Amino acid sequence: MTGFEAQLRAVSLRVTKPRLAVLAVLGEHPHVDTETVIALVRAEHPAVSHQTVYDVLRALTEAGLVRRIQPAGAVARYESRVGDNHHHVVCRSCGAIADVDCAVGEAPCLTASDDHGFVVDEAEVVYWGVCPGCATEHSSQ
Ligand SMILES: [Zn+2]
Ligand SMILES: [Zn+2]
Repeated sequence: MTGFEAQLRAVSLRVTKPRLAVLAVLGEHPHVDTETVIALVRAEHPAVSHQTVYDVLRALTEAGLVRRIQPAGAVARYESRVGDNHHHVVCRSCGAIADVDCAVGEAPCLTASDDHGFVVDEAEVVYWGVCPGCATEHSSQ
């Protein structure tokens, strides 16, 4: 049994080829959008339909195996690094995304200074800036 099969079984999802394919793609390509997931899955498994990939992404996200992130003004991206509540840095220019570990450490930013009585279970921090590639492009023009 592969790690992906074990992950699916752990959340009581049936092990299917498309689900394994999507998990494999996200393992190698973090922060990809739906279109990219479809293209990468279909490159390996041409029989898998677009709709199937949409359904798999939804099922995996609902089961908590995949995290959906959607920076303001950008399309949704998916990643399989879940459970650590890490943050993201996003390039304003090209939309590149990178992972940023929590600045605080263990319980990532979940201790709000005032939670207004809410039970907080997730904190989403997006750092906006310009990636090294875009920064170089601007300075050489
Ligand atoms: Zn950039
Ligand atoms: Zn990430």
